[in-house]
Amino acid sequence: MEEQIDFEAKTLKCKECENDFIWTPGEQKFFYEKGLKHKPTRCKDCRVKHRKQVESEFYKVTCASCGIIGDVMFTPKEERAKIYCKDCFDKKFLNQPSGI
Ligand SMILES: [Zn+2]
Ligand SMILES: [Zn+2]
Repeated sequence: MEEQIDFEAKTLKCKECENDFIWTPGEQKFFYEKGLKHKPTRCKDCRVKHRKQVESEFYKVTCASCGIIGDVMFTPKEERAKIYCKDCFDKKFLNQPSGI
């Protein structure tokens, strides 16, 4: 039998803009289903802003081969993975056809 939990809308304080925001039952259910124990710390607006910021930082990286700062062509799955610009990515993997 599935556990039934009634979620009630809760008012939380955003740590970013310090405004109160509503944690809706739908979002609580989502958190619960994901097994997340913590509460959201940011309001929806700040979450969107934060994500954009993280993404823009993430995409401004240095090529592991030539040092150019630019777009990521290669997303690291592990910490050891290197990031290459398009030119180096092409060169590297065209030279090593079996290397992927
Ligand atoms: Zn906020
Ligand atoms: Zn490069």
